[in-house]
Amino acid sequence: MVYDTPEMATIVRAPEHVARFSPRHLAFVVPLVLLHAGCGLVFVVGYSTFATTVFLLTGAVQLFGITAGYHRLLAHRSFETSRPGQFVITLFGTLAGQNGPLWWVGHHRYHHKYSDGDADVHSPRLGLFWSHMGWLFSPRSIPARKGLVADLEQFPELRLLDRYGYVVSVGYALAMYGLGEAWRVLHPGTATSGAQLVVWTSVLSTVCVYHCVWSANSFCHRFGTRRFATRDDSRNNFVVSLLTFGDGWHHNHHYYPASARHGFRWWEIDVNYAILKVLAWVGIVWDLKLPPPAIHR
Ligand SMILES: [Zn+2]
Ligand SMILES: [Zn+2]
Repeated sequence: MVYDTPEMATIVRAPEHVARFSPRHLAFVVPLVLLHAGCGLVFVVGYSTFATTVFLLTGAVQLFGITAGYHRLLAHRSFETSRPGQFVITLFGTLAGQNGPLWWVGHHRYHHKYSDGDADVHSPRLGLFWSHMGWLFSPRSIPARKGLVADLEQFPELRLLDRYGYVVSVGYALAMYGLGEAWRVLHPGTATSGAQLVVWTSVLSTVCVYHCVWSANSFCHRFGTRRFATRDDSRNNFVVSLLTFGDGWHHNHHYYPASARHGFRWWEIDVNYAILKVLAWVGIVWDLKLPPPAIHR
């Protein structure tokens, strides 16, 4: 682990930060480890056109659920939608297995509050690996920052998803097993099976989306370009923006977090904003917030 300053190293090694393997901590980190190890099962179950297609669709839903749902809607309220709309997009985010919406949003708002300062839990100043995923293994990351999500706690359905999100993931895996088995029977020549679909859509897809989303915390605070005088180390990173449906324009986002659009220039591809525009045209979302025109100039 590389620490950029002695102060940072002291914080990370503080007693409350040292790993304590309580049952709650294990319940938090064991699925992370098992999901990564489970990716190797791809070589056991093989692949099929059907499995890879459902893998891409699932990944897109998970990515949109986190980056547009958890992030742009819940954490920053950068657009409006109906309560059922909010539930559905949050459900998509829950499917990504990145803990519940209240936990995710609390930690993300905390990150914006203390970006790259001593209190920032996942600054790359503590090491690139730490910012990418190491911080998730710290007991310090387990408690939800309830003080920062009082606005979301008023929705019982969001509290429900926060508490029982794993039911969504397990239920989806069972559904995928059923779909894969049905496909195997109906289309015996396609080399599809229930186990194959579970590995591709519940394991591999979840892990791929993990690393895409985590890249905003790690690479987008270390590698890329800057154009505003923000006090953090945030960067705009073209590759990460492609991997995150636009959240890689992370420096723009840190400068103006309330914007539903993260790519401020026409060439800054922002898939989420394009999807939100389409959803706005059909009336599912509205009031997409944008930065003042002066910022675009
Ligand atoms: Zn950031
Ligand atoms: Zn944010």
